Amino acid sequence: NDDNIVLKLLNVESAYGPIKAIRGVSLQVKKGEIATVLGSNGAGKTTILKTISGIIDPRKGSVEFKGQNITAMDPALIVQSGLMHVPEGREVFPLLSIRDNLLMGAFTRNDRDGVARDMEVVFNYFPILRERAAQDAGLLSGGQQQMLAISRALMANPDLILLDEPSLGLSPKLTKEIFEIVVRINRERGTTILLVEQNANMALNASDYGYVLENGRIVMEDTCARLREKDDIKEFYLGMK
Ligand code: ATP
Repeated sequence: NDDNIVLKLLNVESAYGPIKAIRGVSLQVKKGEIATVLGSNGAGKTTILKTISGIIDPRKGSVEFKGQNITAMDPALIVQSGLMHVPEGREVFPLLSIRDNLLMGAFTRNDRDGVARDMEVVFNYFPILRERAAQDAGLLSGGQQQMLAISRALMANPDLILLDEPSLGLSPKLTKEIFEIVVRINRERGTTILLVEQNANMALNASDYGYVLENGRIVMEDTCARLREKDDIKEFYLGMK
């Protein structure tokens, strides 16, 4: 039943000039699940997310969100339709306070009470953001900025969050903390999440369904429980022999 599919990519190809970054990617994300795309450096993970959120237009193929064709749609309209992208490197506004960064995430909403409630929700997930709400976001550590970037996306009360490599540059402890909250967000709020990660171990433990991307192509897909048991995954992505 297609009502259950939040996001659907069909044969998507995206390139930077002559460089084909993704070469015919098809994938689906079901409502309420966490899906992950695993792949090494340069496999094309970031390009998939940028193509979904409209930052780059694909050469071929289509992107459907909640049954609507959003291929090459204006990124601002894609945001308005309920899809938030947390980019690699977080990209918080360093000279704005943490509170104002959060409000930026809610700029498409006009339900003030709902925005205030969701501010409480993110402060409960990440209490450090409440403590430092009035400070400039640029003063936060890398891990705290990642928390802020995720929280800013939540402030839009989206149906789907695209999460680009949340573990990048973070200690194992912080990575674990952030993944735990991502799973809680998914379970408690029902937010559907598409996560791309090089940290296969964290991603496979947190997610329901996984795709493996190599050189711009999906080479394997399965439930994460089954992917974790595959010899190729153990050897090349989990570093086990
Ligand atoms: P990483 O984990 O290192 O971010 P990735 O899997 O997200 O890798 P992409 O960033 O999507 O991979 O890159 C896919 C391919 O496209 C790579 O070969 C990369 O060099 C190339 N590429 C990415 N961005 C650009 C760009 N702006 N101009 C030219 N080539 C690019």
